[in-house]
Amino acid sequence: MPLVTEEHEEFRRAVRRFTEEEIVPIASELDAKQAEIPMEIIQKMAEQGYFGVLFQEEYGGLGLDNITMAIVAEELSKGWLSVGSVMTRGIIMGTLLEAHGTEEQKKKYLPGLAIGQILPAAAFTEPDSGSDSASMRLKATKTDGGYLLNGAKAWCTFANRANCLIVLARTDPDASKRHKGLSIFFVDKESGEKIDHPNIKGEPIPTVGYHGMKSYNLAFEDTFVPEENLLSGAENKGFYQLMASYEVARLQTAARAVGVAQAAFDFSLQYSKEREQFGKPICEHQAIRMKLSEMAVELEASRQLVYYAASMKDSGKRCDLEAGMAKVKAAKAVEFITREAMQILGGYGYSKEFPVERYWRDGRVISIFEGTSEIQHEIIAKSILNK
Ligand SMILES: Cc1cc2nc3c(=O)[nH]c(=O)nc-3n(C[C@H](O)[C@H](O)[C@H](O)COP(=O)(O)OP(=O)(O)OC[C@H]3O[C@@H](n4cnc5c(N)ncnc54)[C@H](O)[C@@H]3O)c2cc1C
Repeated sequence: MPLVTEEHEEFRRAVRRFTEEEIVPIASELDAKQAEIPMEIIQKMAEQGYFGVLFQEEYGGLGLDNITMAIVAEELSKGWLSVGSVMTRGIIMGTLLEAHGTEEQKKKYLPGLAIGQILPAAAFTEPDSGSDSASMRLKATKTDGGYLLNGAKAWCTFANRANCLIVLARTDPDASKRHKGLSIFFVDKESGEKIDHPNIKGEPIPTVGYHGMKSYNLAFEDTFVPEENLLSGAENKGFYQLMASYEVARLQTAARAVGVAQAAFDFSLQYSKEREQFGKPICEHQAIRMKLSEMAVELEASRQLVYYAASMKDSGKRCDLEAGMAKVKAAKAVEFITREAMQILGGYGYSKEFPVERYWRDGRVISIFEGTSEIQHEIIAKSILNK
């Protein structure tokens, strides 16, 4: 039986229409200005139900599967990687809550997440702890009715506009406990153009791409978080809770890569039919045909790995290995395909007049965030060696 059904394809057609009408016309212009995604677009995505695709209907979600979620990510990212990425944080928070939240926490956050009213940001990485998340140091100290957070976070994407930060913090001060001393907190805050919080300071980090969202360095200074905002109500389980939810985030990230790669492929394919050199369209030169063929193979292989990992998850199994493979494969493919697309456009590929240079800059980040490719290879190797 094919993994992707007619219902999935119907959903895809709707997201594709949305992308073509709402995102494609503005993406390159906003990217060039390094401007964030307009809040009206995020509102329209919410109206389409994109934020609630995966969440249970009893909490206001659409209750659909991971393949649908991957298709949404893929189609939105085809328009602009940043737009396909707005939902990632909500997916992380929602899957954490569904798996570990208390009933009060589920009721407080899930319905808002499902309709895009609660837009979170993930504050996991620290200036000195990236891949090695067990070494994180931001401290959560018990105080009356809650905790005080003190320390630094890095690369918190969407921190300004988010109205809730998912913070991984050390509740056991003994750093040698590593992953056994971490907890997850939900820090409610106001959404805004800048970070405007009396106990959280933040500055955006300039980047080469992914301009629709800003990533922040954050400093927490006695930031109060009530005890009911500690995920599952129990300390020191945060690392394990997070690892289990990463597989879905990685799947979604791999699907985003497929979307960017597809956009680059489509653009360069069309260009190769129209651009003539030596008296014929360049797609009739063998070197270009070879490129198009290799790009098509890499693209389809990545996409099918994403759907395969998603179907594993949908069947109720863990999919760390498959999601890791999908992310590694898609990260490599998007770099290759955007590079080749640029090559097919020649000088025009390097110019800002066409979107291919944006796909190339945006695609580059996939192998860095949501777990680097080196870390994915470690996970894959560990898994195959332990079998
Ligand atoms: C645009 C962007 C947005 C981001 N958004 C967020 C966000 O919203 N929230 C958040 O928390 N983080 C975010 N990140 C951070 C991202 O998750 C980290 O950059 C990533 O986890 C890598 O951590 P690091 O940058 O500290 O690199 P390091 O961990 O210092 O790694 C440096 C290099 O060493 C390699 N390496 C490290 N350990 C090993 C090992 N054991 N074996 C082999 N190689 C290894 C890495 O693969 C990498 O190549 C974002 C990053 C970017 C670039």
